[in-house]
Amino acid sequence: MEQFKGRVAVVTGGASGIGFALARRLAREGCRIVLADIEQAELERARDTLSAEGAEVLAVRTDVARFDDVERLAEQTLRAFGAAHIVCNNAGVAGGFGPMWEISPRAWDWTLGVNLQGVIHGVRVFVPILLKQEEGHIVNTASAAGLVAFPFAAPYGISKFGVVALSEALALELKAGQADVGVSVLCPAYVATRIAEVRNVPGELAAEWAALGPLPAEKQKQMEEIAKGVAEGIPPEAVADAVLDGIRQRRLYILTHQEMGPYIEGRMKAILAASPSSRVQGAGQPHGHSSGE
Ligand code: NAD
Repeated sequence: MEQFKGRVAVVTGGASGIGFALARRLAREGCRIVLADIEQAELERARDTLSAEGAEVLAVRTDVARFDDVERLAEQTLRAFGAAHIVCNNAGVAGGFGPMWEISPRAWDWTLGVNLQGVIHGVRVFVPILLKQEEGHIVNTASAAGLVAFPFAAPYGISKFGVVALSEALALELKAGQADVGVSVLCPAYVATRIAEVRNVPGELAAEWAALGPLPAEKQKQMEEIAKGVAEGIPPEAVADAVLDGIRQRRLYILTHQEMGPYIEGRMKAILAASPSSRVQGAGQPHGHSSGE
């Protein structure tokens, strides 16, 4: 998709950070904007900011972990604007920290529910709309943590590996059809947003964490290191620019941090090094898959 003027862009997690920067950038390109977020007050503030800048904006309170909410988001989008062209499945939470065997089932459910199931809901609800229109573009926010494993935040990493796998499979499935519907998966490393501020925690999990009392020193240190990385991250506006380029160029992978290259390469090399050499020479991936678009 090269023309943004007059298009309708839906952004989940649009009240803050990367989602807000994306919405603002798309609005400046002339898109009509649908902001979806679980935080009502922040959502209204974001809507008012974009409206004051001249954008046409609809705000819909949405918990992406709930399929019904995402269905309602699509209904309200179509009722207000008659179409949805660019859908950014971006809402996400940092989730539970620590050794994965110590993370409680509720913390696993919350992280996977928002970060992975939220994207699945977005795809199930919006892709049929885009296919019917015969045009559109889906952007799924994963993370560099969806390309390379890192310790002590397993639910997050697993949700993001899932979003990468989902997006790769979706690209193959869309390619098999005739419609002009593209897909990108966004994989940034640290971006300076509010992600490290633990919020929007469902009631039962919040109570469970409150009952645990102060965090053990080791876990506190791990969280502080992540918060420091986030605070020193690139600005969300730079990520939004990369996404716009990625949509225009119909790129499947949108990467924003060059320094991740050696880690990604190291992982790929380690996997290939474990392959029997005859199969490596056979090249390609199993079952006739091709990489990328
Ligand atoms: P952020 O906390 O500033 O923004 C996330 C937004 O998602 C918030 O407005 C929050 O209210 C919303 N949200 C949370 N749960 C929700 C739910 N259940 N339903 C709807 N909205 C919900 O953080 P961010 O960094 O802008 O995060 C955006 C995306 O970028 C996330 O998917 C995150 O995993 C990903 N990401 C962030 C970084 C980083 O370093 N900041 C790096 C890689 C990927």
